[in-house]
Amino acid sequence: MSYDNKLIAGRIKEISARAAEAALRAGRDPGDVRLMAVTKTVSPDAIEVAILAGQTLFGENYVNEARGKISLLASRHPMVSWHLIGHLQTNKAGPAVGLFDCIETLDSIKLASVLDSKARASGRRLSVFIQVNIGEDVAKFGVPPGRLDEFLKGLAAFPHLAVSGLMTITPWTDDPEDARPWFRALRELRDKVSEEAGVFIKELSMGMSRDFETAIEEGATIVRVGSAIFGPRYRLKI
Ligand SMILES: *Cc1c(COP(=O)(O)O)cnc(C)c1O
Repeated sequence: MSYDNKLIAGRIKEISARAAEAALRAGRDPGDVRLMAVTKTVSPDAIEVAILAGQTLFGENYVNEARGKISLLASRHPMVSWHLIGHLQTNKAGPAVGLFDCIETLDSIKLASVLDSKARASGRRLSVFIQVNIGEDVAKFGVPPGRLDEFLKGLAAFPHLAVSGLMTITPWTDDPEDARPWFRALRELRDKVSEEAGVFIKELSMGMSRDFETAIEEGATIVRVGSAIFGPRYRLKI
């Protein structure tokens, strides 16, 4: 194994251990938290190193970037799951349904309608998370918390979509503690709408490299970690 390969494998191990400790601190079962490796700008070779180190869940931001990587790696590693975590435009919904196991960024009824018909055409039920703009940040995508109830009701019209989670990107903070109220708010919102809708929405995708432990303490079931595994992205963009 090369130095870089050992580094990636070692970081996955270390982050998994820290994630498990955070779960235990909060009285949660570490088995209820999954680490997603976020691989935007990361090469297929580096992704494969992560897979061989035991990593099974990956997140990509862009359909075009993901296409080549997933088609290359999926045939060799069929047990790996791929989630789309970047904003999705309706004109990319077809290829996205073909590539991803789950779309975490559903944020409009129009997109739901297109995804539903693409999922129907490919004979499957597509797992989706609703992206919630928990910080009500004008620069971010997502359903405002106050509209989630109504949005969920609207999704009842789409039988080929399985709503299995909520996802959020919290406002930037230096201190992970500052993100805690947003994480807590998303969990409480999930519990509230689940109770009202009478269906439990299980997954909470929240927390990144700088604050995944706080997110787990507040109930995250998926944490999306990129740079803490693969290194800073700007280095790879040149
Ligand atoms: C890039 C990205 C991440 C990972 O960010 P890091 O700070 O590198 O861990 C997580 N979620 C989304 C939506 C992203 O775009």
